Amino acid sequence: MASDLFSKIQSSLNMTTYKNLSGELSFYWGTKDYFSAWAEVHSTPQDPPKHSIGITYRTAILLYRDIEKYHKYIEDGIDKPTFEKLLEGIDIPKSLAIESSLENSCKNMFVSGMTWIFFHELGHLLQEHGWIRQRYDCSPSTDVIDCASQDTGSETLLTGKASAVSHVTEMAADFFATITCLGSLMLHLKGLAFNEELGKFSAVLSLVLYRFHGPRPYNPMEVPTGTHPVPLNRLEQTQPLIFEYLSAANLSNTVESELTRLDMIHITTWASYTTGFFWLRENNTFKLPENYFLSGSLQRPSMTAYHRHMVNIWDEIKPEIDTVKRISDPSTELQFSDQYRELLFKN
Ligand SMILES: [Zn+2]
Repeated sequence: MASDLFSKIQSSLNMTTYKNLSGELSFYWGTKDYFSAWAEVHSTPQDPPKHSIGITYRTAILLYRDIEKYHKYIEDGIDKPTFEKLLEGIDIPKSLAIESSLENSCKNMFVSGMTWIFFHELGHLLQEHGWIRQRYDCSPSTDVIDCASQDTGSETLLTGKASAVSHVTEMAADFFATITCLGSLMLHLKGLAFNEELGKFSAVLSLVLYRFHGPRPYNPMEVPTGTHPVPLNRLEQTQPLIFEYLSAANLSNTVESELTRLDMIHITTWASYTTGFFWLRENNTFKLPENYFLSGSLQRPSMTAYHRHMVNIWDEIKPEIDTVKRISDPSTELQFSDQYRELLFKN
């Protein structure tokens, strides 16, 4: 199923974006025994792109398993009383398979999740993050490696500017992947089918990021360290894109959906809370880790300082990205609004 999916996306990109650039995108499966994806660059920014994306088989297996178990968890309703108390005023579905069979529902969620991972890597490639990272000493090569650090224990301990560049390019790849997935949902679905798949996309995005995070408490980070942002911060940056981007997209005209901004806030809140609780159950953790659930990105301790680093480094490297990026589509490029900047820098 995933092989078909990737060969379709890959050939469609090779017939459009990469053809226009006289380049080529390839895809292959990796055999390492953990959840991992990566992007390889075999060209210089001045030449036509020769890019490839790799994902391990294990990623597909683990993600599908998580999705099946999460469906069962929602149907069993074991934490439903907690959700009813915590998420008062939010409509709590009894099942994830509303319009479709259980099997189809799992498959669709899987396709959404794998596509997001693929597009995350594609975002790194199309914006040539490998070259940018090499320039700022984040990595000796132009390849970009993404993996769940708690599975491998191999995260490079980057610090200073190199770490900030690595973090912000991760945020940029997340941004690209999320907006591209939302665009693709709008292109292919309408009405109730769109609403249902949007809920699944929000849930699978949370499943992936909670898998990266694990059942640990939130560890505040004021100054970027390492290669990747804290997964819970990635969740807090990507989920709001769903209602920010779609509430500006005139859904009733474009996809015959009557979802309001508030409905979409509820969908993303429900998805991230239920996946968080699910992940704790999966890991037999019955005591709530501190600051474990989604909160406003500036409400966490030290987040203002962290995001100031992100905005400053993005403003510094974005002009360089603009000179090497392979496509120009501002809607998929990480941006911080004036209002957000004002909040961050007001003191
Ligand atoms: Zn990445």
